[in-house]
Amino acid sequence: MLQNLQAEESYWDAKHEALSRDGLEALQVDRLRETVRRARRAPFYRERLQEISLEDIRSPQDVAHLPFTTKQDLRDAYPYGFLCQPKDRFVRLHVSSGTTGQATAVFYTRKDLDTWADLMARCLYMTGARPGDTFQNLTGYGLFTGGLGFHYGAERLGMLTIPSGAGNSKRQIQLMKDFDTTVIHIIPSYALRLMDVMQELGLDPKRDLSLRIAYLGAEPYSEEVRSRVEAFYGVKVFNSYGLSEMNGPGVAFECRFQNGLHIWEDAYLVEIVDPDTLEPVPEGRLGELVLTTLTREGMPLIRYRTKDLTRILPGDCPCGRPHRRLDRIQGRSDDMFILKGVNIFPIQVEQVLMAIPEVGNNYRIVLDRQNNVDTMTVEVEVTDKIFVEDMRHLQRIRNRITKELKSELLVTPAVSLVEPHSLPKNDGKAVRLIDRRNL
Ligand code: ADP
Ligand code: ZN
Repeated sequence: MLQNLQAEESYWDAKHEALSRDGLEALQVDRLRETVRRARRAPFYRERLQEISLEDIRSPQDVAHLPFTTKQDLRDAYPYGFLCQPKDRFVRLHVSSGTTGQATAVFYTRKDLDTWADLMARCLYMTGARPGDTFQNLTGYGLFTGGLGFHYGAERLGMLTIPSGAGNSKRQIQLMKDFDTTVIHIIPSYALRLMDVMQELGLDPKRDLSLRIAYLGAEPYSEEVRSRVEAFYGVKVFNSYGLSEMNGPGVAFECRFQNGLHIWEDAYLVEIVDPDTLEPVPEGRLGELVLTTLTREGMPLIRYRTKDLTRILPGDCPCGRPHRRLDRIQGRSDDMFILKGVNIFPIQVEQVLMAIPEVGNNYRIVLDRQNNVDTMTVEVEVTDKIFVEDMRHLQRIRNRITKELKSELLVTPAVSLVEPHSLPKNDGKAVRLIDRRNL
């Protein structure tokens, strides 16, 4: 019997997930006006928004008349310049992990925390997580928003929540066994590392654990990493995107169709612009993601330039939600490096490497300058099994990696095969690129 997918889908927040596109856009206009009205109370926006008349905001596209906000603006107005309520109304602050320089602070009122937890619960429910599931949160707690963000969302949904934090792999595995963990949140590089630990212990998660869902996000990763993680752990992997400036996780999330990340357009107004001209790119084209908060009361941000590069995927999702979908984030515009005149993203290297079975679960890219010539070396861990094999076999693998990287990147890197588990690891986001060219 044919079933209507839309009718079958159940929602955490039907009012905001299952509305029509027109209904969604009308809500956006209301909320955008309210956001501008509120933002005017913040020292940073007071003058910048003075000229804007609320009546002129008649469609979501009218956001284009408002000024952009950059990470540098957040730094300049640090710490309180973006608050539009008295300080005693705030109950939490997070500081971004500072992957790309000086940190920025984000403040939340009680209501903001409530809205955020609800958005997170919506994401988790959409992927099939339910009360009765045991959720283990294997990401750093503390200032990193991924920890507490997921934590409160999972509790709001009603899962038994284990705040295990990042690292200490053996204890993680023990917790998974003892409490029959079914759902996990983990950053991609740690998911790969934990695979190695499980393999060393002779543990097969498909046989020995009860996992069924994994949320991977907070850093760029390729479709190839998704496939590896799904095959090894026996889970469905859902991509999770967010950034501290927009609360944290819960900005965009994959549904059970795993075909791009629904961006919650009732909470965030989305634009994709050309990073050089700041003009909107045609639909479907890659550009910089720009977001405006629509539900944040204490610290609204207008047209925030995320520096993250992605595109809006064309077409509707079979799940029936009107919220448009973002393509997998390719990386930050700052991650891109230029070698011999060619633009390269680390994720392109990952794509090639992770599709080769003999390649292990860690790699890094080292850029250097020798005699005024830029060089690129890709250091690749091989699997345990391969490492003990003969030199001729290793040589063949190295040649294959070099050839495939060359055809993807159009430059020829040096490839260095290294022992399993020998590259540096860290508990937070992976450092994939070491640039020594200007040392
Ligand atoms: P920091 O900017 O200091 O790393 P955040 O923890 O707020 O602090 O990181 C947010 C950033 O992480 C995003 O702007 C994006 O670059 C990256 N990110 C988050 N989720 C994903 C994802 N699913 N895919 C790719 N990149 C992601
Ligand atoms: Zn969907």
